[in-house]
Amino acid sequence: FNNKKVMVFGWARSGKAAAKRLVALGSKVTVVNGGDFQEDSLYRQLLAEGVIFIAHDSPESLDASFAYLIKNPGIRYDTALVEKAQSLDIPVLSEVEVALSSFHGRLITVTGSNGKTTTTSLIRDMLIADGQSVITAGNIGTPVSEVVDDLSADDTLLLELSSFQLMGLPDIQPDIALITNIFANHLDYHGTRENYVAAKFQITKNQSSNQMLVLNADGQDTNSFAAKTRAQVMTFSRKTIGSISSTDGQDLIIDDNHLMALTAIKLVGPHNLENILAATTVAKLAGVGDQAIKQVLKIFGGVPHRLQYLFTNNGIQFYNDSKATDIEATQTALNSFEQPTIWLGGGLDRGDDLMRLLPNLKHVKVVIAFGETQQKIVALAREAHKPIITVLDAEHAVPVALQLAESGDVVLLSPAAASWDQYQSFEERGDKYVAELKKVLRL
Ligand code: ADP
Repeated sequence: FNNKKVMVFGWARSGKAAAKRLVALGSKVTVVNGGDFQEDSLYRQLLAEGVIFIAHDSPESLDASFAYLIKNPGIRYDTALVEKAQSLDIPVLSEVEVALSSFHGRLITVTGSNGKTTTTSLIRDMLIADGQSVITAGNIGTPVSEVVDDLSADDTLLLELSSFQLMGLPDIQPDIALITNIFANHLDYHGTRENYVAAKFQITKNQSSNQMLVLNADGQDTNSFAAKTRAQVMTFSRKTIGSISSTDGQDLIIDDNHLMALTAIKLVGPHNLENILAATTVAKLAGVGDQAIKQVLKIFGGVPHRLQYLFTNNGIQFYNDSKATDIEATQTALNSFEQPTIWLGGGLDRGDDLMRLLPNLKHVKVVIAFGETQQKIVALAREAHKPIITVLDAEHAVPVALQLAESGDVVLLSPAAASWDQYQSFEERGDKYVAELKKVLRL
């Protein structure tokens, strides 16, 4: 990137990190943005270092003198400016590609349709429990450019990558790459399932025979990926014993050893078992010892807001699944419990058919509904012959749930809807629910 003209498209967190990094690498940087620029300290600092800022992007700002276009992963490839770059054969990269050019340690990457953050967090905790030095970045929150300066060649960089980010990573070559699963989501962005699968294949495209690709043996694309990659393929499976990590329904089995009983694992839900199998495979390949793996699985209660175990009080277990912003996520959550469940749901009405939750209410003993989808949930509960109570929002559901819950019950916030009717984000909704629980329970 030294001495090259580089355009950064998008002035959000990743664009800012990329611009700073590129200046440090000696690039001549132009930043373009959809709207105006806020003239904050970073803006003024970069302006003083010669960075050119162009508000209200248009294709005219780009010409063949630019070596690269670095785009925010959320910007679509059919945007006029990106199309212009492609027509001029200017590589379109992501911030991660810029940052990785200065990293020489071990690289582990996690991608897939679902379970990325959970699996990445598990791998991180297992490496740490094993005494290894690891930094996580990427989709999980921190742009890679922000952490790469602090890394040495002895560190492991653990990256969570969305398929959007992968499309801008033509040169990525992980030492261990994991694809958790591939479902047909995000098709609005990628157009076809083939494009989506091709974006995921990017993670292994440059791998060589001394590197490893970890795949879900139960997934439908596993064979075609295994046939195409140069990397060594390792698998995990909920069904087939013989993968590096698997289960016989009783125990977690790693490399033919019965490591621990599934009942000793804190994380709940069949989908999370898959995430555990994926994470233990990667941890094993990264040299993590069995004791460290076991230790983490006994205490890891989930990532905040993702079917996260909170605490048990008076025999009642409390969970926060505020990230469940669609029906599938709440189906997954409700299917994860066999105990009597007090289900708290509701939020932004996107026109979804909530009756699809009907088969998942078997263990629900009371429904508490709030938000825009409240009336749809009332209709659902009536259809399922379940008691229903309506309240204002997720916090107001707390005292009602506490009044009804008995020892042995689960109290679960899993809204099956986005939060924007009443909250800024699913994080705010989850945090307020947890804060209210702690307040009322005096924890
Ligand atoms: P991501 O980072 O890929 O969005 P998360 O780990 O944050 O995934 O989990 C988000 C939600 O996706 C979970 O609350 C759950 O509903 C669903 N999910 C997680 N793992 C899986 C899986 N292995 N299979 C199917 N669904 C899953």
